[in-house]
Amino acid sequence: MTAAQIRIGVVGGGIGGLTLALALRRRGLEADVYEQASELREIGAAVALSANATREFHRLGCLEAIAAQSCEPSELIWRGWRDSDRVASFSVAKCGAYRARFGAPFFGIHRADLQRVLGGAHGPERLHLGHKLVRVAEKNNIVSLDFANGHSTEVDILVGADGVRSTVRNFVAGGEHAAYSGTSAFRGIVPVRDLPSLPDPQALQFWMGPNAHLLHYAIGPSGKDVNFFAVVEGPRSWTRDNWVAPVGPDEAAKAFASWHPAVVEMVTSVPHRVRWGLFTVRPLPTWRRGRAVLLGDAAHGMLPHHGQGANTTIEDAITLAELLPARRSEDFDEAMQRYESLRRARTRIIQRSSRATNAALHLPDDATAGRAAHLAKFPERFGWIHEFDALADVTSLLSGVRGKSGPSPTTTVMGDSLKRSAYGPTRARRSHRHPAR
Ligand code: FAD
Repeated sequence: MTAAQIRIGVVGGGIGGLTLALALRRRGLEADVYEQASELREIGAAVALSANATREFHRLGCLEAIAAQSCEPSELIWRGWRDSDRVASFSVAKCGAYRARFGAPFFGIHRADLQRVLGGAHGPERLHLGHKLVRVAEKNNIVSLDFANGHSTEVDILVGADGVRSTVRNFVAGGEHAAYSGTSAFRGIVPVRDLPSLPDPQALQFWMGPNAHLLHYAIGPSGKDVNFFAVVEGPRSWTRDNWVAPVGPDEAAKAFASWHPAVVEMVTSVPHRVRWGLFTVRPLPTWRRGRAVLLGDAAHGMLPHHGQGANTTIEDAITLAELLPARRSEDFDEAMQRYESLRRARTRIIQRSSRATNAALHLPDDATAGRAAHLAKFPERFGWIHEFDALADVTSLLSGVRGKSGPSPTTTVMGDSLKRSAYGPTRARRSHRHPAR
């Protein structure tokens, strides 16, 4: 079988599945993408794309189209929950600081716009909407797929890019691996003109308080809308087989009632009928089984507090697309094994750090003493996430040279260091060494 004859089926037409299809095309392979939704529509409101993803979109030839729909935050700012004093801040678009440091831009974009750009680049012929995967089986290196609409197909390689509640993951790893984090979120998009109290409306800002925080950034080409994401502790358990749960009309407003007026304006500007449960995926025993492999949230769903779920998913897609064009059938196993070992350590440490960040953003008022000093070191501590170059990483592996790609798994994650700073001296250690694989 030549590379061009491989039948690749990607389940999930989200950011990961579509990016993979584009990256495979660059390597001369075509993939069929099967998406359960009947149209590519928004899943959540917006997404922030950091340099580790935008440098790949530039290489895939779609960064210009993405830029046309995006807004670059002026700064990254942290504030407390009651007043508008800055706890820490860094320039992003301002003075070209972010691009100069990381070699690619940082964008806020509406998810529907991003999916439209990626879906448009992929084209409609091999994008099968209304295809909800319900059954996977494998025999003699052929994977058969059955869909809820009665359609069936066979592929040589199956990629599960079907999100946190992945059906492909059930086939690959069995069991229930999605775990509720004990936190939930209210979200919305508000025109800047409705936020008269908001300082620095073009910045990406965290407002941090006891047991809650609110993140927002401007989206769209003119930055006239602000996407916000307000996270609270609880409910204690999540009993629904769904992302969202109904809430009373005042629940969000009550959670942020005594916060800074800008936060109150944002939260009360949109009606909240639901809250979003925040889920992660527990470390899996394996990301692959036979000819099936997982990518993105299906493999390593994480809390969104480093804004890296989609960005690391894009890295996965680039890595897998470079490794898959194997010429002989037996090469696929090796390609998938290399993919998993390249991606597991990095995504795991970002996943852990995102979870720990939740605690750091929700510190009680009497424990915030060391927070400003720690946030001031944010670029040094977390620059490795943004400067990562997935294509260079996999290319160096293929050519037998290992490049820098992230911290050692022993590197301090954000919340650990903040917690230590609140209660004692930090032992944070910076490293750009390659993760142990
Ligand atoms: P998804 O985007 O979930 O896509 C999976 C696709 O698979 C969906 O289209 C779904 O319909 C389809 N599907 C599922 N099951 C089936 C099936 N059985 N058959 C066929 N199709 C199926 N990440 C960032 O990098 N930056 C951010 O700013 C950011 N903000 C976030 C804010 C919130 C509130 C949340 C919840 C997440 C955020 N993330 C962010 C994380 C990011 O959204 C995800 O990590 C990313 O979307 C994962 O991409 P994916 O392609 O793996 O999965």
